[in-house]
Amino acid sequence: MALAESVRALVRPAVADLDPYDPAFVACEVNLSANECTWPVDPATARAVADAVASAALERYPDPLANALRDELAAWHGVSRPNIIVGNGGDELIYNLFVAFGGPGRRLLDMPPTFSVYRIYASMLDTEVLAVPRDPETFEPDWDEVLAVAPKCSIAIVTSPNNPTGNVESLGRIEELCEACPGIVMVDEAYGEFAPEVPTAASLIDRHPNLVVLHTLSKAFGLAGARVGYLVADPSVIDVFAAVRQPYTVNVMSQAAALASVERRAAALERVAAIVAERERLAAAIDDLGIRHWPSQGNFILLRVPDAAEVRRRLAEEHSVLVRDLSSEEGLEDCLRVSVGTPAEDDRVIEAFRSVLNG
Ligand code: PMP
Repeated sequence: MALAESVRALVRPAVADLDPYDPAFVACEVNLSANECTWPVDPATARAVADAVASAALERYPDPLANALRDELAAWHGVSRPNIIVGNGGDELIYNLFVAFGGPGRRLLDMPPTFSVYRIYASMLDTEVLAVPRDPETFEPDWDEVLAVAPKCSIAIVTSPNNPTGNVESLGRIEELCEACPGIVMVDEAYGEFAPEVPTAASLIDRHPNLVVLHTLSKAFGLAGARVGYLVADPSVIDVFAAVRQPYTVNVMSQAAALASVERRAAALERVAAIVAERERLAAAIDDLGIRHWPSQGNFILLRVPDAAEVRRRLAEEHSVLVRDLSSEEGLEDCLRVSVGTPAEDDRVIEAFRSVLNG
């Protein structure tokens, strides 16, 4: 960020060189760049959400802690209200993790390549980042190194399924990390619903009070625009997140939309099952094109093509198909990430890749 010198003199050093987060969005007919869920909502849920939003009391402040939504989420996950806190997207909860448990003299254990927001928030809040890179071929974490570094960390984040590589972690590994790390271990399960055979780490919170499990309604529930995420954790840790949060960040319309959606979770989870099947179809088609890709348990696929930045440009400009270019990130040279779209969107992306790579 090119700051005026007079402003640079005023700003906290940790902030002076930050750039605004850039989702690299350009208008395209098919946007598969942000791991959203583009499948239509079933009509009954769509109606319930619309009715709930229409009757939201806009003249009133929202319930700060979104207790009705907490109760519904608690019922779903088999825990109690004090085990849940809701935030303005998972992003806000990750930020608050650093507000509460990071800061000068404290360290984050990060496992790149992974979601870049962790290290950005860590730096912003003066938290040192100890990176333990994943295997360059398989993107599996280096668990020996992770467990060796963990004792020095106030925060460790495990992303399962990992964005953008698609790897998942076993509960055994997560327990080992909870034992090795004296700080908070966050398991980011933003894409957990797309890995139905992988058990959620939330089952471990009774045994490991330093564990917090992050979920979001942005992916499986298709509510990215509403900005609602939540944590499952021991009540004493939830209390800390409650203390540091800004009171009214989850607005009444989002609370209403989220509650109506979670009440009808069976429909959302049915759609997720169809998206998982579609992911496998997309992966097979990518394979047929001879493109290197990694097995994914999320709603996205990471792939590697020669000259990825140019491929992304041509997909967008010649075919109006947007995918995410990750090729400038360490370990992701020449990598692109494609979100799983509807079958029609995926057909477009497959045809576009065929045309660009052959032409
Ligand atoms: N965690 C991971 C791994 C993600 O990829 C994302 C979104 N891209 C989030 C958390 C945050 O999602 P949201 O703020 O939309 O809940």
